[in-house]
Formats: sequence, C-alpha cells, structure tokens
Amino acid sequence: MKPLLRYQGDFQWEGVPVGPYKAEGTHFRDVTRQVLLGPDAGLRCELRYFEIEPDGHSTLERHDHAHAVVIFRGAGRVLVGAEIFDVRPFDLVRIGPQTWHQFRSAPGAPLGFLCLVDCARDRPVQPTRADLGALRADSQIAAFIRT
Ligand code: MN
Repeated sequence: MKPLLRYQGDFQWEGVPVGPYKAEGTHFRDVTRQVLLGPDAGLRCELRYFEIEPDGHSTLERHDHAHAVVIFRGAGRVLVGAEIFDVRPFDLVRIGPQTWHQFRSAPGAPLGFLCLVDCARDRPVQPTRADLGALRADSQIAAFIRT
C-alpha cells in the first residue's frame, strides 16, 4: 500500500479518479465523487470527497447508515432532519440513521465536503409522495428541497 497519495491541487489527489456521484438518476445535479481512503487502506469505512458545482444538489435521501461530513470548500446549505443549516469550510455535519438529508451549493460557489461512511451499508431511499408531503409541511423545507 502506498503510504502517501499526494495532493495535486484543485481538490484532486494522486491516483484518485474523479467519478460521477451516482451511476444514474435525475435526483441530483452537478456532483462529483472521489474515494480518497477506504478498504485499500485497510479500513472498514470510506472517506470520500464530493463536490457540488454552483447551484447543484445531492440526492434527498435517508438510510440506516450514518454520515460524518467535513465541509472542505465553498459554501452552501444542508438539510438534516427538520433543520437547514448554512455551512462553510471546516464545519462538521453529523447525519444520523434514517435522517433525511440533502446538500445544496450556493448559487455562486461550489460546495466540497469530505464524507466518512461505513463500507458495509444499506442503500439510500428517496422520499415517497407521502414523505414529500410530510417534509413540505414545513415551508422552509418545502422551499429548500430538490427532487
Ligand atoms: Mn446519504
């Protein structure tokens, strides 16, 4: 195992491909994924770097596994459960099991973040029509979410 993967600037690391956020779908917009550290480093978790281009968003989803997030670049907002937070670099975001979450970059800035997650994890679930109805009962959440 190579002990050092050199940072190459522009939020890219030696030998780490920049890939799509998810294989398919229209429920997210302008997001890239890099798996920085994981099983190749002997871990049972993965440290990923995601970057959402300006005015983009991640999927609105929930699942049994948790996320630990370090905001790394830019600016944006995040929905966690029933709350929406402005986030900036070096903020930490904790997303617990079965908690609705969605990241949105600011209109004029990307939002880059590190996300730590278990390797063995359940698949994310998107909201049903009933779930969306419940989420949209809160007008701030209604205005925030993208599906
Ligand atoms: Mn998630």
